Amino acid sequence: MIGNVVVLLGAPGAGKGTQAQILSERLGLAHVATGDLFRAAVRDGTPLGLTAKGYMDRGELVPDSVTIDMLFERLARPDAAKGILLDGFPRNTAQAEVLDKALAERGGKVDVAPYIEVPEADLVARLGGRWICRAQGHPYHEQTKKPLVPGVCDVDGSELYQRTDDQPATVQARLRQQLGALDQVVGHYRGHEVLATVDGSQPIDRVTDGLLAAIAAATGRQG
Ligand SMILES: [Zn+2]
Repeated sequence: MIGNVVVLLGAPGAGKGTQAQILSERLGLAHVATGDLFRAAVRDGTPLGLTAKGYMDRGELVPDSVTIDMLFERLARPDAAKGILLDGFPRNTAQAEVLDKALAERGGKVDVAPYIEVPEADLVARLGGRWICRAQGHPYHEQTKKPLVPGVCDVDGSELYQRTDDQPATVQARLRQQLGALDQVVGHYRGHEVLATVDGSQPIDRVTDGLLAAIAAATGRQG
């Protein structure tokens, strides 16, 4: 018996991780981030964990079938009885199709795929805008943690600079690639009529309310 399956979608910087944590607590769903899933399986030395580790040690991608098996192992645990909230999987159409098929074989389905939509320009501003100090690497952010004096570290007075990785052009190029895959997945769930778009440029608690409403409409599960 599979409980509710919620696939939370959002670009890097859209606040998906934060919302996933809030939603899973409010709804009693197990929060399943595939990165954590891999790490836990490898740490616990489960057969699937060892298989996954073999691929990762060889620098290869873990096959979708292994990820899916791990997901269902996770689904069988008691805290997932009411269902799961997936965070970071599926990442592309192929994975979305594998997931649909695997769920269908077990009498389940994706109930709803809430999508936290944030304009690309906002994502670039959130993801970039990071500056660090030369002396000790103290972090600052143009939007969320400005230094008292522009360009100067509050703690030690050293100069602030941007690593190449944090410069707008680099951030934008990396984001474009990630958004391409996300668009595919969004399109997949739109086609299956389970997509629920929520405006992610609102304050965090308003986004949470929007997501809870979307999940309630699809599952009857109230936060
Ligand atoms: Zn500093």
